Amino acid sequence: MKVRYWKFVVLTVVAGVLACNRDNDSVKAGSAPQNQPAPSQEAALPDLKFPPDNAPPPSIDAERAMKYVKEIVKLGPRPIGSENHKKVENYILDHLKGDDVESDSFVADTVEGKFPVRNILAKFPGSKDGIIVIASHYDTNYPLRNTSFIGANDGASTSALLLEFANQLHGKKLDGYSIWLLWTDAEEAVRNWTETDSVYGARHLAGKWQQDGTAKKIKAFLLTDMIGDADLNVEHEANSTPWLEAVVYEAAKRLGYQSHFYDRYFPIEDDHLPFLRMGIPAADLIDLNYGYNNVFHHTTQDTVDKLSPNSLQIVGSVVLESIRILNNMNPLPPKVNAPSASSH
Ligand SMILES: [Zn+2]
Repeated sequence: MKVRYWKFVVLTVVAGVLACNRDNDSVKAGSAPQNQPAPSQEAALPDLKFPPDNAPPPSIDAERAMKYVKEIVKLGPRPIGSENHKKVENYILDHLKGDDVESDSFVADTVEGKFPVRNILAKFPGSKDGIIVIASHYDTNYPLRNTSFIGANDGASTSALLLEFANQLHGKKLDGYSIWLLWTDAEEAVRNWTETDSVYGARHLAGKWQQDGTAKKIKAFLLTDMIGDADLNVEHEANSTPWLEAVVYEAAKRLGYQSHFYDRYFPIEDDHLPFLRMGIPAADLIDLNYGYNNVFHHTTQDTVDKLSPNSLQIVGSVVLESIRILNNMNPLPPKVNAPSASSH
């Protein structure tokens, strides 16, 4: 993920809180709200009852996921329009052989020129009417294309996690909602992050899903970004749908991972926004503190040695547990249509 355009403003406001949190080695320090919704979202949080889940806790093969991270990183920088980008497309597609795979391909017209963009989607059908999407971007930062930036955390870690999810889902009869794994493309800005220079793939696919009626069928959109960090602290992302965030936090609590999930609310612009804008419930699972004060983010220090399979395990199993909770919530909270249906 990226330090977003307007997030600089937020960062300056909360920098003291962040520093305080870190210095005191406590994410609960400072003035951030604790265990309660952000004031602006409080009204939107319905009375939630989470069904019990007595099944054994879910898990993934995190060592295998880490092997995928290393294989992706080995391809080198993978910005849109590059040869290495084609290689990572093929790497993902090779992994999905035998699955129901679709591509959403188009040409993005950007301030740096035209680029082919390809979202990759793998569909795993379930018995229940409706779809849960799990997403990650797989492109790497474009402005850093001529450096050794390899995006081990920012791009590779979550793309690998989704490949591991594919292993978990492959050939299984899902007793719940259908699950679609989505590798989005061109999440990164080509110059400076703005609404029109960012999340090209997500904006295109969201528009397509709105037109063809798919958007109506999607019950939840779970975005993962930068969660391979060995020092894992998932943000309570303030743009996300409050009740879906609550599901994720309930899942983390059930698995005993709550200490890796911040109480602090923090708004982040990411691939989930175009889907949120059309009323799809969405949550962004993201760790914005990648190194002290996020110093590894969008630098050549974003390398595999900063990551841990344990972090992939934590987020991977929290995502799977969240899906189990969603499958048993009858009914899910009603969708709230955002004021603007357009993602532009
Ligand atoms: Zn990024």
